Amino acid sequence: MVVVSTPDVPAEVSHDPWTDQNSGMAGSPQDRSSAQRSGDIDRNGSGRETARDLCAYVDASPSPYHAVAETARRLISAGFTEVDLDAPVPPPGRHFLRSGGALIAWVDDEQPANVPLRIVGAHTDSPNLRVKPRPDRGDHGFQRVGVEVYGGVLLNSWLDRELGLSGRVVVRDGGALAGRTVLVRDDRPLARIPQLAVHLDPGVNEKGLVLDPQDDLAPVTGLGDQDSGAFQRSMATLAGVDVDDVLAWDIMFHDVAPSCLTGPDEEFVSAPRLDDLLSCHAGTEALIEAAEGKGPCLPVLALFDHEEVGSETATGAAGPLLHRTLRRHLGLSDRPLEGSLVLSVDGAHGTHPSRGHRHDPEHPVRLNGGPVLKANARARYATDAPGVALVRLAAERAGVPLQTFVSRNDMPCGSTIGPITAARTGLRTVDLGVAQLAMHSAREFCGSRDPAALHGLLSELLSS
Ligand SMILES: [Zn+2]
Repeated sequence: MVVVSTPDVPAEVSHDPWTDQNSGMAGSPQDRSSAQRSGDIDRNGSGRETARDLCAYVDASPSPYHAVAETARRLISAGFTEVDLDAPVPPPGRHFLRSGGALIAWVDDEQPANVPLRIVGAHTDSPNLRVKPRPDRGDHGFQRVGVEVYGGVLLNSWLDRELGLSGRVVVRDGGALAGRTVLVRDDRPLARIPQLAVHLDPGVNEKGLVLDPQDDLAPVTGLGDQDSGAFQRSMATLAGVDVDDVLAWDIMFHDVAPSCLTGPDEEFVSAPRLDDLLSCHAGTEALIEAAEGKGPCLPVLALFDHEEVGSETATGAAGPLLHRTLRRHLGLSDRPLEGSLVLSVDGAHGTHPSRGHRHDPEHPVRLNGGPVLKANARARYATDAPGVALVRLAAERAGVPLQTFVSRNDMPCGSTIGPITAARTGLRTVDLGVAQLAMHSAREFCGSRDPAALHGLLSELLSS
């Protein structure tokens, strides 16, 4: 029988990387020394308050457009004002601009031109299933919705879940030449992708599940023949317009089950889109915190779309949005390179309980072991030694433990927005993030203390 601790009362932990420097949970001597100063790491006691706020942020953000809307809502309530992309440069203050699934925010307290930049970057998009332009299908008496696979989806994770829809619809706007964009979401359990029964797929447990993305992934929405126009009618209803006024859509499916803390001691977060909404959430809250103090740096938040498909878009990290904003609003060409820093924050791979050998043995990565610095000699991550030093010193000041990820030489290494941002801006960049399991699953998994630790580290870096 499992003894369940009372929620909000920190559980007794015998080998905890936050309190035990001999736990072996950290990746280097420096990691362990910072773990020793763990008394004030957890800014909210157990970290659960931050983790629950993260769950609320994720649930408010089923699409990149909703993530931007939720971030904007939080910034506005903290005194930020929105700047139109083409508006004249506003007087100094707390500002943000947005374009589709991307948002750039900054705090300009009239600091002199020699004040360095501190930029937190993350991405709003996650791998998922996106609705095709003509999606209405009829297959063997079922009505289904045709989808495209967006990013590196773990396909099996989308089976046998209740799915809702979200995204944006562009509708006719009177006689205007451009349409009007409407954010839409429907959290009802609208659709499901039923897996083939084991009896009809003999050997599936021995061979592994193989899914055909064209035929196996179209969610079922009802019974009957193909009904061309059914999806457009549903979009019209969601957008509150006549069906003929629906011009186009960017719509995707999401798991409708709410995010939650799991485990008898609530040590984990179970949620969709932790990669990379966890980082977007921490960056947003850290910027809001940095806006309250007048630090020696100019803090910036950059949330990009399309990381999961290569970033080469107008609102991706390879696009002009950040560079244009830095030049137009923050005098990039006059800012010092020395001391300026980009924190490219994205999910890190935690060591899996049954596949530990997929990690480099000298670099284990634990859930609730603190933020993870990511290194790669071939610059798949932008991290370099001077950048690591800046982050380590900040982590020491904040009392946050750090871990380090580096790939095995016989395993491929992923990448993220760090190298792209470094190349576009010319600023020193460090890749880091929170450890998670099940990356790119429809439902991901991380420690419940790590989001607060990341928030603390980013707040220190933006404020000092
Ligand atoms: Zn990511």
